[in-house]
Amino acid sequence: MAFRSPITPDIDLAAPGKRLGYLRLPHSVHRSAYGFIPIPVGVIANGPGPKVVVMSGNHGDEYEGQVITSSLLRTLDVTDIAGTLIVLPMANFPAAEAGSRTSPLDQGNLNRAFDPDYPPGPTRTIAAYLEHELFQGIDFFLDLHSGGSSLRYIPSALGCWPEEPERKPAMERIIAAMAMPYSLIFASDKGGRYATSAAQRNGGLALTLEIAGGGEVAPGALRAAEAGTLRTLKEVGLYQGPTTPASTPTVMMTLDDSHYLYADEPGLFEPAATLGETLRKGQLAGRIHRPETPGRAPVEVAAPADGLLICLRVPARVIRGDCLLHLAAPA
Ligand SMILES: [Zn+2]
Repeated sequence: MAFRSPITPDIDLAAPGKRLGYLRLPHSVHRSAYGFIPIPVGVIANGPGPKVVVMSGNHGDEYEGQVITSSLLRTLDVTDIAGTLIVLPMANFPAAEAGSRTSPLDQGNLNRAFDPDYPPGPTRTIAAYLEHELFQGIDFFLDLHSGGSSLRYIPSALGCWPEEPERKPAMERIIAAMAMPYSLIFASDKGGRYATSAAQRNGGLALTLEIAGGGEVAPGALRAAEAGTLRTLKEVGLYQGPTTPASTPTVMMTLDDSHYLYADEPGLFEPAATLGETLRKGQLAGRIHRPETPGRAPVEVAAPADGLLICLRVPARVIRGDCLLHLAAPA
């Protein structure tokens, strides 16, 4: 049976021209019997060229991308584009409206919901619509993330090599055009539960940005990601307008499970290093203070591996299981 989503766009997502509107997800609840969830969407289509989807608000507390996608929809016009650009500024709209990583309606994490076994609810419905309708025929997908409320990143690009070796050079050019300070590119995750996995299953190349985070919009990181986005859209043959050159080439990095440091007890986390610092395995990375117990010394936590500090927790209050930081190593 063919896939049928309850979501209906209130604009034509294929016809030539520029249109702004909403994906309507029916949501019948106590306060609104015939209501719908209005997921903002814009399309700019102009003749032959690649189909590109740029998305933010996959996690609702990651704000830089939402500023960038909103700007794309305001500033780009039909003559700037060859092909079709679809932009989703608040992909998991209920989460983004609430400023929350996950949806308050079903606690869904959109970036884990590209999986037929994910629990049903608005979040899974959005994921299925993206994978089986919006991503059909996609050439390139850009998913704009950041550290959100609990983490802060050095601006980084994350991606996966395409399974087909002949497509690797195209991915290399995309990474170079984006020119984030650091790029972490892994083996294909076509089987994964991420939005990028779903785009790859539809034949597209895909890239994620981790722009900054901490529940704020950092102007420097925002500008760098915005300029990188335009260069990348130009590289894939979609954007026809001017771009600004990258200030420095990206540095290729890698990481694995050994690069993550987690809290092993509750308390107040005081980092002993700042983003961009290189740590040695065993070096002091922070302290967890226990003000509940007068006179108790803080617990010292050590770097789990050699590496560059690329992501650091923001809120001081931690419990066992919270990620305190992760490192990355030169590729
Ligand atoms: Zn995210």
